[in-house]
Amino acid sequence: MEVFAKYGNEKQKKTWLQPLLQGTIRSAFAMTEYNVPSSDALNIATTIERTGDDYIINGHKWYISGVGHPNFKVYLVLGKMKLESQGNKRRHTEHTLIIVPADTAGIQVKRPLHVFGYDDANHGHFEVVFNDVRVPINGTRGEGSIILGEGRGFEVIQGRLGPGRIHHCMRSLGMAERALEITLTRILGRGKTFGTSLDSNPVIRQMIAQARMKLDQARYLTWHAAKEIDRGGSRMAMLPISMIKVVVPNAACEVVDTCIQLHGAMGVSQDTILPRFYAGLRTLRIADGTNSVHIA
Ligand SMILES: Cc1cc2nc3c(=O)[nH]c(=O)nc-3n(C[C@H](O)[C@H](O)[C@H](O)COP(=O)(O)OP(=O)(O)OC[C@H]3O[C@@H](n4cnc5c(N)ncnc54)[C@H](O)[C@@H]3O)c2cc1C
Repeated sequence: MEVFAKYGNEKQKKTWLQPLLQGTIRSAFAMTEYNVPSSDALNIATTIERTGDDYIINGHKWYISGVGHPNFKVYLVLGKMKLESQGNKRRHTEHTLIIVPADTAGIQVKRPLHVFGYDDANHGHFEVVFNDVRVPINGTRGEGSIILGEGRGFEVIQGRLGPGRIHHCMRSLGMAERALEITLTRILGRGKTFGTSLDSNPVIRQMIAQARMKLDQARYLTWHAAKEIDRGGSRMAMLPISMIKVVVPNAACEVVDTCIQLHGAMGVSQDTILPRFYAGLRTLRIADGTNSVHIA
């Protein structure tokens, strides 16, 4: 959605952004590929060729989120184009982001992929192959198929990630906060072991105190990153955003881990949301740019 809002032309906004904002359609961002280490966007192997009035797309993407949603209507596909204008600056001017309506011929949605066994229905994450997929240069409704311009895809992917990452962190903090809340309720009502109630056990109290501190540290760093992006945009906030991309999912995951421990057997059962949170937060250390890459 933020791609259309930030980089779309007026017709693209009318065709795609308006229904996205109204919630009547959904989009998916298709960058990651099965066959190449996609942490480095320079490796992307999907090709976009200009032929007559059309672009032809070939590529093998996976873990593309949102494709299973009933309102899913459009892909934003990152591929590479061979362009005359590239000259020596080729590496960062090869990428192009193209709008591909979901019902275009040649798109094979191969299978839904799991996250620790969860299918994340109904939006899901999918393996998708593009076989000679043809879209008109002018777009299906005259809006133009390319976002920003041929060879400007790198610019778009760099610009889209800042606000999205802050959003992921906010949701992670919310998950950890809820996990802590249900844990406190559980501990307060659980009774005694070896003559002492769980809520007055010093080991348990320390575990909760550590979790509270971890969570608030992560929250304050997220506030700082949000302030920086408000002050100077994604470029100025690059460092704090990279920091929260690493710190927040780690901290939230550790807090949920403590909460699972403090629930005993119930912590790994299907009777609480904790295993679901744990899987989601662990996955965030990989999705949306891996933590290791942000540290490097
Ligand atoms: C649930 C989920 C949803 C996703 N949704 C989407 C989506 O909607 N659209 C999309 O395009 N992608 C999506 N992804 C893919 C995700 O963005 C990629 O998995 C991620 O960017 C890493 O790419 P890769 O899997 O190719 O790992 P690789 O690039 O093969 O890297 C493997 C590992 O090597 C390490 N590594 C790589 N480079 C370095 C480095 N320079 N320094 C240190 N360590 C390094 C990292 O730890 C990395 O995990 C999703 C993934 C998941 C799990």
